[in-house]
Amino acid sequence: MSSPPHTPARTRRDYAPQLRRILRVVCVAAVLAAAGHWAWHQPFMAKPRAISALAAMPAPDALAMPVDGVHARQVADSFGASRGSDRSHEGVDIFAPRGTTVRSATPGLVVAIRDSGLGGRQVWVMGPGRQRHYYAHLDDWAPLLQVGDLVQAGDPLGTVGTTGNARGTPPHLHYGVYASDGAFDPLPLLHAGYPATGDRP
Ligand SMILES: [Zn+2]
Repeated sequence: MSSPPHTPARTRRDYAPQLRRILRVVCVAAVLAAAGHWAWHQPFMAKPRAISALAAMPAPDALAMPVDGVHARQVADSFGASRGSDRSHEGVDIFAPRGTTVRSATPGLVVAIRDSGLGGRQVWVMGPGRQRHYYAHLDDWAPLLQVGDLVQAGDPLGTVGTTGNARGTPPHLHYGVYASDGAFDPLPLLHAGYPATGDRP
């Protein structure tokens, strides 16, 4: 009788090392997630948290009047008015005596402070819904205002002036709001009146 053909004993694969490797990866991931969660809630992450919350906020359906002592009904609807052959007015002009305080119309992050071009002395604030708010022709900036500052609606940004191409005109704030698809008329939202300026506790 011939011996049965040799069949190699089935080797039992040892899954233990693989399992240990997977467990190690899971543990490291859990520790990293916990550390990230912990760090995110520390005081030094307050600003990134606020910026993230701001970006997640919906675009506002009302805006605070950015110039002291002015009511929305006093503001002419000059959005879209022709400014030369190739330009239209991408905002509204809010007239007030030189030096009148200009305030943020929304909560936001100060993303630029500069003196350049048509706007002259200007401040850019990224507000809720990633909309950009443009405050131009300022006489001066608010003391200590810095790029990276978080502001609330009603916080001072500067004062009304005639810098940039407003030189020689009555002092006014040029206020523009830009969404991802460009500028839109802020006046209806100013009429709606964000309950901030003057109404804050
Ligand atoms: Zn203007």
